[in-house]
Amino acid sequence: MKKDCVFIYSDDFQLYKFHNAHPFNQLRVKLTYDLLREMKALDDEQVIFPRMATDEELELIHDRAYIEAVKAAGQGRLSEDVALNYGLGTEDTPIFPNMHEASALLVGATLTAVDYVLSGKAKHALSLGGGLHHGFRGKASGFCIYNDSAVAIKYMQERYGLRILYVDTDAHHGDGVQWAFYDDPNVCTFSIHETGRYLFPGTGNITERGQGKGYGFSFNIPVDAFTEDDSWLKAYTQAFREIAAFFKPDIILTQNGADAHYYDPLTHLSVTMKTYREIPKIAHEIAHQYCDGRWVAVGGGGYDIWRVVPRAWALIWLEMTEQSNISGSLPKAWLDKWQPLSPVPLPPEWDDPETLYPPIPRKAEITEKNAQTVEKALYPIRSQRQNIKQSL
Ligand SMILES: [Zn+2]
Repeated sequence: MKKDCVFIYSDDFQLYKFHNAHPFNQLRVKLTYDLLREMKALDDEQVIFPRMATDEELELIHDRAYIEAVKAAGQGRLSEDVALNYGLGTEDTPIFPNMHEASALLVGATLTAVDYVLSGKAKHALSLGGGLHHGFRGKASGFCIYNDSAVAIKYMQERYGLRILYVDTDAHHGDGVQWAFYDDPNVCTFSIHETGRYLFPGTGNITERGQGKGYGFSFNIPVDAFTEDDSWLKAYTQAFREIAAFFKPDIILTQNGADAHYYDPLTHLSVTMKTYREIPKIAHEIAHQYCDGRWVAVGGGGYDIWRVVPRAWALIWLEMTEQSNISGSLPKAWLDKWQPLSPVPLPPEWDDPETLYPPIPRKAEITEKNAQTVEKALYPIRSQRQNIKQSL
């Protein structure tokens, strides 16, 4: 097994918990961890305990007043009106005890992953507690309080002077990270997501390409509802390869929301485990091609925590550690342990059956629409390449 990969983990990730009925449930990280442990795919020395992010680190992205509000909210001393101004206490992002500490740990976990990779102690690092891509400078949004990816990107820039490619495969647009670096040509953001026409947060249009010096460094591929594996993967693979060739990053940060799956209750895409096998494979390939392997992966959305997220996230680790040729049955010990707690039958195998869902009637139309979206989104870099070719 490869030793130069680290898995950032603490049971304290469970403290990031809004309430029992809330769709965001960090039990999925524990389920993933346990699945890998049962398979003997994760060694003791690869598991790294995270540190907390300091206030100074959070302030790389977040306003001090907002951080103070989160602290006060978590201690029950913030009025409802003031809280709402910071996006706290909403239906999506309710207040819970010690929310600052729980949120700062998720940021610290992603910074721990970054430190391992940039100190050369690891080539790849996985921080599944993070991926909270909707957090804004002064406002909580969409289940996200602090934006660990944005803090990590700023931290890598300030401390190491790197050019960072952020790739977001969550079914929701990675708005918080995009807007944090919208005018920065040294951070390239690429988000592929379900179109914002009917889905939170509503942004992520192709036309959001950056501003000022950052113009041309923000890429969005909004795919149609009901998009299936082949169309999704074609868009992702083409775009990721072409954007990496254009930007030539020093490091890749991938956000791995696992909520594009057919089973996900919050979104309307139709991808299966086939897509979740390929997502990390392409990231891995590109990290070695351009970044001497430097790759940090974080979690994100994912609301079918029993049938989808553990398999999808385990496959990231299995890809990092070159154990991804696994197929067939999930470990019996894992199924036996968790089935009694799961409200739905757990999937018996790594891969989804072909018959997971009935045929999508508009398949051809959706596929064609997505191909056009990719064409438009990549047009600037494709035409630039064409011009270079012609001038040679
Ligand atoms: Zn999402």
